[in-house]
Amino acid sequence: GNHKWDIPILERFPMSEDAASGTLKEFFTQGFSRYETERSRADLEWSTSKLSAHLRIGTLSPNELYHKTQDSGLPYEDTKTFSRRLIWRDLAYYQLYTFPSMRDQPIRKHYESTEWVTGDEERRRLEAWKWGKTGYPIVDAGMRELYATGWMTQSVRMIVASFLVEYLRVNWVKGCEWFHCTLVDADSAINPMMWNNAGRSGIDQWNFVLSPENASQDGTGEYTKKWVPELAGLSKPL
Ligand SMILES: Cc1cc2nc3c(=O)[nH]c(=O)nc-3n(C[C@H](O)[C@H](O)[C@H](O)COP(=O)(O)OP(=O)(O)OC[C@H]3O[C@@H](n4cnc5c(N)ncnc54)[C@H](O)[C@@H]3O)c2cc1C
Repeated sequence: GNHKWDIPILERFPMSEDAASGTLKEFFTQGFSRYETERSRADLEWSTSKLSAHLRIGTLSPNELYHKTQDSGLPYEDTKTFSRRLIWRDLAYYQLYTFPSMRDQPIRKHYESTEWVTGDEERRRLEAWKWGKTGYPIVDAGMRELYATGWMTQSVRMIVASFLVEYLRVNWVKGCEWFHCTLVDADSAINPMMWNNAGRSGIDQWNFVLSPENASQDGTGEYTKKWVPELAGLSKPL
């Protein structure tokens, strides 16, 4: 059809140096000082910087961003998590350099024998996940936001990744491929690093399962109701 996939994505993430410096300014005015406490919130506008696509395509230098955090005048306790995550970018590039096959193979080789769902059942589960039709509100909200705008906040990326791997038992490689196809910040190093972790075969394997029930990521319920409008009439909490 003539569905224009790119238009809402470009509206949300205009790609220019001017747009990057505008976003940088907004984040440092409105969100940076609260990052330690609010970074997991999908329902708050500036809880994270939303600079990932600019860092990915080069309309913002990571050095500039790093020095902005250092010059913010805030104590280390208030800047440490943001700075650490920014440096994870380089950790991801180091991992891809060291493990060039990590995009579709486990970094820890013995996880190759993990048993995943296959065939028609794999397709059925994967399709439900991709299109936000699993029946789990926060999972569906995230997957719909991803397809519509190319972005999700990290805490929701973690929920949907954990859900695909732990609940649906679909091989993490399939999730990694879909993210690569749909993310506006799709990164050949960060994405497989995080999916390896979700699939438990990464360097920082997730030794936990995230609950797909709505919780603190969407304290107000507004995020889920926006992306899963069939639930908009329900009372809070979801
Ligand atoms: C399954 C999964 C897949 C992911 N795939 C990608 C991807 O393809 N591209 C991508 O840029 N990020 C990816 N991330 C990491 C993270 O979710 C995004 O960087 C972040 O949500 C982008 O939003 P932000 O710019 O507001 O982040 P902020 O919280 O404001 O962070 C600032 C910057 O730090 C860097 N950063 C943050 N978290 C990470 C991380 N875990 N690893 C490496 N660098 C990080 C990013 O460049 C980000 O823009 C993934 C996370 C998960 C769980």
